[in-house]
Amino acid sequence: MDSFKEECAVVGVYNCQNAAKLAYYSLFSMQHRGQEASGISSSDGKKIKTIKNHGLVTSVFDEENLKKLSGYAAVGHNRYSTAGEDSMLDAQPVFARYDLGEMSVVHNGNLTNAQELRKKLIENGAIFQSFMDTEILIHLIAKSEKKCLQDRIIDAILQVQGAYSLVFLSRSKMFVIRDANGFRPFSLGKIQNDDGSVGYIVASESCAFDLVNAQYVRDVQPGEMLIFEANKPPQSLQIMSPTPHPCIFEYVYFARPDSKVFGRTVYDVRKKMGIELAREKSIDADIVIPVPDSGVAAALGYSQESKIPFELGIIRNHYIGRTFIEPTQTMRELKVRLKLNPIRELIEGKKVIVIDDSIVRGTTSRQIVRILRGAGAKEVHMCISSPPTISPCYYGVDTPNKEDLISARMSVEQICEYIEADSLVYLSLQGLRQSLECGQSDSFCQACFDGKYVV
Ligand code: SF4
Repeated sequence: MDSFKEECAVVGVYNCQNAAKLAYYSLFSMQHRGQEASGISSSDGKKIKTIKNHGLVTSVFDEENLKKLSGYAAVGHNRYSTAGEDSMLDAQPVFARYDLGEMSVVHNGNLTNAQELRKKLIENGAIFQSFMDTEILIHLIAKSEKKCLQDRIIDAILQVQGAYSLVFLSRSKMFVIRDANGFRPFSLGKIQNDDGSVGYIVASESCAFDLVNAQYVRDVQPGEMLIFEANKPPQSLQIMSPTPHPCIFEYVYFARPDSKVFGRTVYDVRKKMGIELAREKSIDADIVIPVPDSGVAAALGYSQESKIPFELGIIRNHYIGRTFIEPTQTMRELKVRLKLNPIRELIEGKKVIVIDDSIVRGTTSRQIVRILRGAGAKEVHMCISSPPTISPCYYGVDTPNKEDLISARMSVEQICEYIEADSLVYLSLQGLRQSLECGQSDSFCQACFDGKYVV
């Protein structure tokens, strides 16, 4: 994988002691979905407090500032800038005071009619502080003539289109909404408090639940609103007819392998993708190696099915801070090498199958092939455990423009030549769906592979 970017992560915690701390650990486990900024709002029933800043979760929060976020309810956000600018104004949660009181909002996704709505609101006198879609929702809620926040949120939601997982926190309640297409994953969990009471958590990925000892209950349904209020079980309202189109790319790349996404464990699906790839494209080779970490599960599957030994032939350095690389060829190669280093003793003289999840621009794949040849590989066969990525995403994932996607411009043969591999193969779309064990009726969004946009 060279340059698909993760999207944001949201969390909501309700009726829990130390709600902000639980939100903090949940955000920590979802750091892979956004590293630009992090924030948490909490409510003690009287006041909402917010802390947010640029940087990773662990650099934004410490023991001291978390203590300030008291209360039994909290919402949190890790930002990767999918829409808007790189400024503190675009960090979340977004806090607002309006005629009914206070609220804080976290949002993961992209509104496809944002420009049109923003233009209309500005024409009617609205003033925007940021470029975030989330601010549009706040204006729509503030302008609504409905009498309570719940009805105002519904009023606003029915005017927006696109992909969103939303959590609204008022002083006493929490509202959770997933768009009718259910593009992004969004799960509900339960927490047993020390005093025996039950608390609730919603998160972009279920890996957040493990760290805070929450039990996965179910996915928030497409088009569903969940309402949390004191001394009541969560209430569910189907506010939009569901037209589910969950994002198939979550399984390919975004989600953590230890998460359960749309009812399936990501690790299992990735391994099956490797098995399907081995069934579709058999290659004569001595070893199968993954591009770490994204290709590991698929490489295990490929090795298991093909009976070709699996080796960790490339080691990834996870601790790369800032690098000072000049734009020369040698230095660019150094950049990849800083992250990925081959084990010569495993590779020298071997025919190598290298498994990665996808190719976006092709530059990283070419560097990997070069690194392996430099370590003495006799042949390098690049195997991709997903179909060619031909179209950008408009549903909350920051993908390159179509012209920057190598598969949109070149044939497989041309890409193979560009990345300097002996062969290049991709898993078919049918093979990918087979790995998910889904039938024709399972309507995943797969627009980045087939260009057919559902919204
Ligand atoms: S276009 Fe691709 S990345 Fe975007 S939601 Fe659809 S499958 Fe997911």
